[in-house]
Amino acid sequence: MFMHNKRLQYTVRVSEPNPRLATMMMEQFGGADGELAAAMRYFTQGLGEDDAGRKDLLLDIATEELSHLEIIGSIVAMLNKGLKAQLAEGTMKEAELYQMVGSAGSSAKESILFGGGPALCDSAGVPWTAAYVDSRGEPTVDLRSNIAAEARAKIVYERLINITDDPGIKDALGFLMTREVAHQKSFEKALYAIENNFPSGKLPGVEKYASMYVNTSQGEGDATGPWNSGDEWDRVDDLEQVMPIDGGDGTATVKLGSADKKVGQKMAARTMSDPSSDPTTGADLGAGPGAGRTKTGDMGGAANIEEAPAKAEATVAK
Ligand code: MN
Ligand code: MN
Repeated sequence: MFMHNKRLQYTVRVSEPNPRLATMMMEQFGGADGELAAAMRYFTQGLGEDDAGRKDLLLDIATEELSHLEIIGSIVAMLNKGLKAQLAEGTMKEAELYQMVGSAGSSAKESILFGGGPALCDSAGVPWTAAYVDSRGEPTVDLRSNIAAEARAKIVYERLINITDDPGIKDALGFLMTREVAHQKSFEKALYAIENNFPSGKLPGVEKYASMYVNTSQGEGDATGPWNSGDEWDRVDDLEQVMPIDGGDGTATVKLGSADKKVGQKMAARTMSDPSSDPTTGADLGAGPGAGRTKTGDMGGAANIEEAPAKAEATVAK
């Protein structure tokens, strides 16, 4: 069960209202790497987890992320406090209120539709979606994704810290950013606490392909590094020699039943192309300047139209 404590996990001290900054903060409220996405990611993973240690970790962090959602949402609410009241009471001059809403940045939706309260949207007003959560129900996969999600959240907080000079907001964001660092460390430990965590899942990779590096992009700029050269890699530079890699003929085949075979031949016959034909098409008939070479001449346009009947006759005669 959830219980709510009225105190925030970290004190929010906003110096002055700033609707534009509020809109930017929405990125960490209802955005792709925001706190709602983090909370839902770990909560659903925790519910489906069977390992007692990981379940506990996921539900602890999920609940903390909800507490972060509360902090960032409170920052948005404080930054919009003046705007919200002015919109509701309508006592300000129209032009001044228009100016105030206009200062809310790219998303007027935040003021006009949601009245300045924190909405489940990102900084551009795009509604939150469950598609931000990419869990696959396999711990070695999901923990890696969680590590990346925490790394992303850290960077987004860093950018928000860099665009605000409000010391109270900077302080609270610094706390939120640092908690993502701690979460990343926990997820890394949980991943490596699984003895065989690479490759993901149960099936082993095919030995001869697992250490192959294929230099498929060749030319100036070809580089070597520990990611493609050295003892751990079988580097392939001569692509002709290894394509297809399995030593087969590189074609795609399937065994068909007689009914499928028959209807397939019918379809092939009906849609067969005639390489010896040279049909006149709509592009030929409508060709104007810039059409390139067409049956009406290589410049297109009215100047070449005389050639068309002769070619048409030749086609008919054939
Ligand atoms: Mn968080
Ligand atoms: Mn986190």
